[in-house]
Amino acid sequence: MKTGFIYTKYKTDCYHCHVDADQVIKVVPQQAQVICSNCGATRVFIPRIHEVGTTGSFTPISCYDVWNLEPTAECRNCHTTGIHDLFVGCNHFTVRCRNCGFTQFYKFNLQYIGKCDIEEENCDPVIR
Ligand SMILES: [Zn+2]
Ligand SMILES: [Zn+2]
Repeated sequence: MKTGFIYTKYKTDCYHCHVDADQVIKVVPQQAQVICSNCGATRVFIPRIHEVGTTGSFTPISCYDVWNLEPTAECRNCHTTGIHDLFVGCNHFTVRCRNCGFTQFYKFNLQYIGKCDIEEENCDPVIR
């Protein structure tokens, strides 16, 4: 696993197919994706800002429950491998290093349905 990369899963009702399925969460420095393992519905988030040390700045504006996950990853800022607080909401996606407080904010960008690899550019996104 490369620095700043996070790969985790969260099992919940998919907003698209409504099946209780693993939602695969992939984070790289350039974007974050949430992909339904059942139907392939994908939400893409792009970086907004990042900052170090602020807490309580998460705004849980959401049309459904905010997911709160605790994946282990290597921090891009302090290069410590440890727990990160990961919040996935409807319009926002936040990852925060518990060791140094480095926080990356992503905002909702687009969604599409279908399998697509995060490294590939040839997806056919449906802009919401
Ligand atoms: Zn689904
Ligand atoms: Zn850190």
